[in-house]
Amino acid sequence: MNRILVIGSLNADLVMRTKACPKAGETVHSLDNGFSQGLGGKGANQAVAAARMTPDDNTKVMMAGCVGEDAFGRTLLEGLHTDKIDTSHVQSVKGISTGVAMIIVEQTGENRILLSAGANGLVDETYVDKLESVIAESDMIILQLEIPIASVAKALEIANKHNTPVLLNPAPAFFLSDDMLSKCDYLVPNEHEAAIVLNETNVDITVDNAEKYALRLLEKGVRKAVIITLGSHGSYFVSRSGAKGFLPAAKVKAVDTTGAGDTFIGAFANQIVSGIDLKAALEFATKCSAITVQRAGAQSSIPTYSEVVSMN
Ligand code: ADP
Repeated sequence: MNRILVIGSLNADLVMRTKACPKAGETVHSLDNGFSQGLGGKGANQAVAAARMTPDDNTKVMMAGCVGEDAFGRTLLEGLHTDKIDTSHVQSVKGISTGVAMIIVEQTGENRILLSAGANGLVDETYVDKLESVIAESDMIILQLEIPIASVAKALEIANKHNTPVLLNPAPAFFLSDDMLSKCDYLVPNEHEAAIVLNETNVDITVDNAEKYALRLLEKGVRKAVIITLGSHGSYFVSRSGAKGFLPAAKVKAVDTTGAGDTFIGAFANQIVSGIDLKAALEFATKCSAITVQRAGAQSSIPTYSEVVSMN
């Protein structure tokens, strides 16, 4: 059985839809039925995507991270169990809130997100150290940057010590040292994150120049492949073995792109540990995320394997 371990964030998404955002000191009503609550956090979303792409229980997905001992934490864990994700390494901690994303969406589609890391901030180096044996036994670990950066560095170090392949999704983005990048097998940023990781905050990465920036990230030491996702355009990949190319996104009517990148990453990781080659794994991930963008919400919008294979 293949094993994927995601070490990352779990958040409750509290979404309020409004005609316009309140100004300082102002109170406004939301749109009718404007409030919804969802399950999110980049780590948990990627775990769910990896799990839903497992048709025959041949891949075990494990989640590691922290939630508060509160209703949000319990709901997040229940959601993961529904997807058969092993949560035995998730710590429920007293006296701190589960991570929360407060998302205000204006009628125009513009959104503003206020994030409270809460228990995600407790994923420290000591916690990651305790995961050493499960990291060693995994076929891939998936990391993002919604937990402390020192913990991500620690996870990279342990994974490298045991030759466990690592996929890093550098989101939300920071400039990353060559030392960190050279400990990653797969780096999957979106176009904005790729620019920040390279410390080129004033460049616009597009379909036309993505190859150049993906190659620059590869030159910094990423071991197998760099994939820059480009929203509704698709993605560009370069690999150490010389394969490269643009994969166009499926032409669909997007209603909410939340979770597109997370679906792409979870699905891609699942395919790679199942022995599928890079390009085919990316084509599959592209299909999965095209379904996600046609539905509202984060985890609720991630498709199942059978939905993906029945997509024409
Ligand atoms: P993130 O959510 O991390 O910003 P992207 O927006 O780049 O990631 O989306 C990841 C992938 O999801 C893209 O490479 C593409 O394949 C797919 N995708 C995103 N937006 C759309 C869209 N509007 N239509 C179809 N596919 C999309």
